[in-house]
Amino acid sequence: MRKSDLLRDCHGALGDLVYDTWSCYLSGPVHCGRCESCRNRYRAFREAGLSDCTLYAAPPGDPADFIRTADGYVHRSCPRAASGGT
Ligand SMILES: [Zn+2]
Repeated sequence: MRKSDLLRDCHGALGDLVYDTWSCYLSGPVHCGRCESCRNRYRAFREAGLSDCTLYAAPPGDPADFIRTADGYVHRSCPRAASGGT
């Protein structure tokens, strides 16, 4: 089973709680966005066709696709990011 399939199942079962799961190798306040695991997580969300509301300290992909928030970067696919702060 591919990670993106797993993620889709997870999202079906957990809903938005899936964004509270932890993938990062580091134990920072938010996902670092730089390690392999963060990049895999980001890619899996894209492949699964899900919006990624994970808060990253640095964009794990093209910075143009991310919205800067007070706490970090959120992918523009996240509805919360679009309506959230600056
Ligand atoms: Zn990380």
